[in-house]
Amino acid sequence: MDTKTATALTSAAIPLIELREVSRTFVTGGGVEVQALRGISLKIYPGEFVAIMGQSGSGKSTLMNVLGCLDRPTGGAYLFAGRDVKTFDPDGLAWLRREAFGFIFQSYNLLPTATAEENVEIPAIYAGISAKDRIIRADGLLASLGLGDRLDHRPSQLSGGQQQRVSVARALMNGGNVILADEPTGALDSKSGTEVIALLDDLARKGHTVILITHDAKVASHADRIVEIRDGEIVKDSGPAKGRTDVANNAGLRDLFRIREASHFLAGEAEAIRMALRSLYANLFRTVLTLLGIVIGISSVVVMLAIGEGSQQQVVERISSIGGTNMLNLQPARGQGQFRDMPSTLTFEDADAILEGVPNVLYTLPELTGMYTVRAGHQDHSTQITATSEVLPEARAWQLARGVFFTREDSNRYSAVAVLGATAAEELFPEGNDPLGEYILIGKVPFQVIGVLTRKGGSSGFGGRDQDDNVFVPLKTGGLRLFGQTIARSIAVTVDDIERMDKTEKDLIDFMTARHGSEDFRIFNAAEMLETVSATLETFTMLLGSVAAISLLVGGIGIMNIMLVSVTERTREIGIRMATGARQGDILSQFLSEAIVVSGFGGVIGILLGVGIGSIIGNFGIPILFTPKPMILAFTCAASTGLIFGFAPARKAARLDPVVALANE
Ligand code: ADP
Ligand code: MG
Repeated sequence: MDTKTATALTSAAIPLIELREVSRTFVTGGGVEVQALRGISLKIYPGEFVAIMGQSGSGKSTLMNVLGCLDRPTGGAYLFAGRDVKTFDPDGLAWLRREAFGFIFQSYNLLPTATAEENVEIPAIYAGISAKDRIIRADGLLASLGLGDRLDHRPSQLSGGQQQRVSVARALMNGGNVILADEPTGALDSKSGTEVIALLDDLARKGHTVILITHDAKVASHADRIVEIRDGEIVKDSGPAKGRTDVANNAGLRDLFRIREASHFLAGEAEAIRMALRSLYANLFRTVLTLLGIVIGISSVVVMLAIGEGSQQQVVERISSIGGTNMLNLQPARGQGQFRDMPSTLTFEDADAILEGVPNVLYTLPELTGMYTVRAGHQDHSTQITATSEVLPEARAWQLARGVFFTREDSNRYSAVAVLGATAAEELFPEGNDPLGEYILIGKVPFQVIGVLTRKGGSSGFGGRDQDDNVFVPLKTGGLRLFGQTIARSIAVTVDDIERMDKTEKDLIDFMTARHGSEDFRIFNAAEMLETVSATLETFTMLLGSVAAISLLVGGIGIMNIMLVSVTERTREIGIRMATGARQGDILSQFLSEAIVVSGFGGVIGILLGVGIGSIIGNFGIPILFTPKPMILAFTCAASTGLIFGFAPARKAARLDPVVALANE
C-alpha cells in the first residue's frame, strides 16, 4: 500500500470493496465443475451494514471467503480500497486479513485449547503487539461484551452465545474495520442470536463496515442494505443506504494503511516458543513419547562417547606409565628356538652395558618391584617398593621435595636407606611430622628415610596405581634384602634424541641380542604404542558414536512423524490462525518451534540422563570420561534434528490454503 492509495481512500467515490464480474468455480474430485459464484459485481462503501442473503448452497460462504481474502476468485477482479488483491502476495493477503478484516463464523472457530482471553489475543500476536497491550485490549473487549468474568474459560466451558461473543471480540482485536459474519446466529438460540445481531448493529453504528451473511430474512432485515443471491448470482440489491456511504470513518482506514503497514515482521520468536510450549503441553502424552526418542538418542551418544573417551584415556595413561615418550622399556621374555627353555634374565650389569654400548642412551634404569606392608611407628601402609638406580630423579625427571636421593655407593654397600613418594610419605606420616631420618620397616627390614619426592601425579602400571604411592630403595639393597634376586624386572632406557628413537631401538635390540645370544627380551616403545592404540581407540569411539547417532536419527524420524500427525490434526487451527492474520512464516515458525523445543528439551534431558547413567556405569569400574565436546555436539545434533525433521511438516502447514484449512473438520 502506498500514499497514492491512502489518498485515494479519502475520496468517497472509491468503494472499500468492489467486485467486478467475480466468479468462483470449484472442480470436484470427479472432475465436475461447480460454479459457486457467477459474475458477481458489487460495491460496498466504508461504514455500510450489508446483509448478503440467500438460500443454502447459493454461494454466500464462497462469497464471504473471497471477500475476506481466504479464497481467491477464479474470474473477475476484486478491488480492496481501489487496489486489485491479485497483486497481493500471500503475506500481503495475511496482512489484509489481520488488519482490515474480522471474521465471525457460524461455528465460532475458536482454538479449543486456548482460553477466551488467549483466543482474543491471537490476531494481535500476529500484528506484533506486546503481550501487555494485548492482554489489556483483550480483557477490555471481553469485558465490554459481558465476558469479563470468563477470561480463563476455554471454549468448551462457554455457552454458544458466549463463544460467539468471544469470536466477536477476536474480530475486533486489531480494529476489525470490516466485520465479515457468516451465519453468526446459525448455531445460536434465538435470544443469543438477537444479542449477536444487536452487537453487529452497534458496531455498524460505530463506523465498522459490517457484512452479514444469512439465509434468514428476519436477520437480514437488521442491515441497512440487503443483497440477495441465488445460484451464485445477485438477484436483488437494495443499494447503498444514503446515511452510510458518507460516514466519515474513511480516516480510520487511512490510518490502517498508513500506520500498520510497518508491522511486517513475524510474531516474535518468544511468542512462537510460548505457543509451542502450550500446544506441546496440550498433547502431553504424545510430547513425552516424542521426547523419549530424542532422550534415548542423546543419552546414548553421551554415554557411548564417554565410555570411548574413558577407555582411551585409561589405556593412554597405562601406556604412558610404562615410560615417557622418550623412554624404551626392556623386559625379559622367553628366547626363541634352541633357547626356548632357558630362563630369561636381565641383569643389573646389562643396564650398565647398555649405557656404555648403545649410542643415544642417556640413562638406564633397572627396576625391581613388589608390594610390601611398610610400618612407620604405629602406622601400617601397604605400598609398592621399587629397587632402582640412583639416576631415577634425572631419568624420570622427578624432583626431590626434601632430603637427598640415594647414591651408587648406597647400592654397592647395601645401605638400608629409602626415599618416599609423596603419597607414601603422607600415609606413613599422617601427622605431617618430618620423615627424614626416621626408620620404617619394609617387611621386617628397617630402612632409614633420607628423602621425599615431589608429587608426580597420574597413575602408574597396569593396575592404574598412584605412582606417588611408592617407596624407592637402592637397587642392590632391594635385590639382596627384600626381593632376594639380582635380576631386574625391567630396564627403562632414557633416550637422548627422540628423533633417533627408532634407530636407538634397533641398536638396543642388536646389542642385547648379541650380548645374550638370543632375543630373550621385549621392548615397549611407549610413544609408538600410544600412537597405534590411540588410533584403534579412536575408531572404537567413532563406532560407539555412530551406533548412538543412529538412535538419534530414529528419534528425529519420530519427531517428523509426530509433527506430520500434528499438522494433519491441527489443520483447522492453522486455518483459524491464517484467518486471523498469521503469515506463512508465522505458521512455519510455530511448527518449527514446536519441533525445536521438543528436541531441545530432549537434548537437555538426554545429556543429564547420559551423565547420570555414565556416572553409574563408572561406579562399576568401567572407565568413563565426560568431555564437553560430545555433549555440545549431541545437543546441536538434537536441535538440528528438530529443525531438519520438523521442517517438512512445518512447511506443509504453512503452505495450506486458508479456506481449505478452515473447511477441515
Ligand atoms: P452457502 O454458504 O450459501 O450455503 P456455499 O458458498 O457454501 O453456499 O456453496 C455454494 C456452492 O458451491 C454449493 O453448491 C457447494 O456445494 C459448492 N461448493 C462450495 N465449496 C466447495 C468446494 N470446496 N468444492 C466444491 N464445491 C463447493
Ligand atoms: Mg454457508
